[in-house]
Amino acid sequence: MTAGIPSKTLAMVQTAPRRLEAQELPIPGIRDDDALLRIEACGICGSDYEQFEGTLRTPVPVVPGHEPLGTIAKIGDGAAKRWGVDVGDRVAVETMLTCRFCPACLAGDYPLCRSRRIYSYIPLAEPPGLWGAYAEYMYLAPNSIVHKVDPALPPEIAVLFNPLGAGFRWAVEIPQTRPGDTVLILGPGQRGLASVIACREVGAGTVIVTGLAADARKLALAREFGADHTIDVENEDTRQRVREITDGRGADVVVEVSSYATAPVAEALDCAAPGGTIVLAGIKGFAPIPDFISDKIVIQEIAIRGALGVTSTGYASAIRLIESRRSPIEKMHTHDFSLRDAELAIRTLAREIPGEESIHSCLLPGRD
Ligand SMILES: [Zn+2]
Ligand SMILES: [Zn+2]
Repeated sequence: MTAGIPSKTLAMVQTAPRRLEAQELPIPGIRDDDALLRIEACGICGSDYEQFEGTLRTPVPVVPGHEPLGTIAKIGDGAAKRWGVDVGDRVAVETMLTCRFCPACLAGDYPLCRSRRIYSYIPLAEPPGLWGAYAEYMYLAPNSIVHKVDPALPPEIAVLFNPLGAGFRWAVEIPQTRPGDTVLILGPGQRGLASVIACREVGAGTVIVTGLAADARKLALAREFGADHTIDVENEDTRQRVREITDGRGADVVVEVSSYATAPVAEALDCAAPGGTIVLAGIKGFAPIPDFISDKIVIQEIAIRGALGVTSTGYASAIRLIESRRSPIEKMHTHDFSLRDAELAIRTLAREIPGEESIHSCLLPGRD
């Protein structure tokens, strides 16, 4: 069972804000109810940048990387039975570790579990230390949730299960988007584009996406993925355009996935149809929202929901769609990086590297 597994793994360890160090860490043994994953790809998103910057205040030293795709390298009999996977299977790993026994977990709302933990935010000091995917190998705790993924897919495409899962949960499951609905997506990043794909899958009627002038490439991609209209918010009036497109009614569903911009939240209220649903999923760094007029929510009976994580149904829908090869989702993937280039990957995502525009990117450990 242990053939081919080295005694140590290369890992990129965060030791301070904006500091990642290559380290050789011991690979732990496993027991009956846990496993070891050989990482094939680790997706990178805005949270990676926030962790790198130190704004998330995660403990250090720590192995970051919360979007793992890999192959089961070693697994206990108990875990193999419960998870339905074995050595050699390729799996997508969910980010959250939850207790499974509290009222929230039992109700299926496991992102609200009070004992929730998140891979990549658990410090190196806590055994066995390998809690993140910026490494060649990662530990899988007994309460992990894994999904089998077609091993024939390129890893950099299979790992899109993570942002695409968010598209399904935030733009379809939470707002209960139905065939024919008009959906307005504020923000054309990887989650916004994933929302377009997910809405198209469930037969949404009209899909509208907004972005900045600098987002021209992302907005073009949104149209390729099936958006009917895109709005350049710097050169067009979003409220007026949405009124025109919807004959004055507004959107049944508004999904806010822009990062740090506060104006779209106030805009969402003006663009939602009476009785519509707004999903807020973009983090604003705890900034207050100017021009947020709550009476509009009352008068129009608008529902507002927050969305942070993704649950199993969203990931399952994403994996099914990727495996079907029906959607040209690979067009969203722009950058591959080696494990040692994790810092470059994060800085590219954050537009700190002139001339490079990242939409979806990932680390590919083992391709160094
Ligand atoms: Zn992420
Ligand atoms: Zn729980």
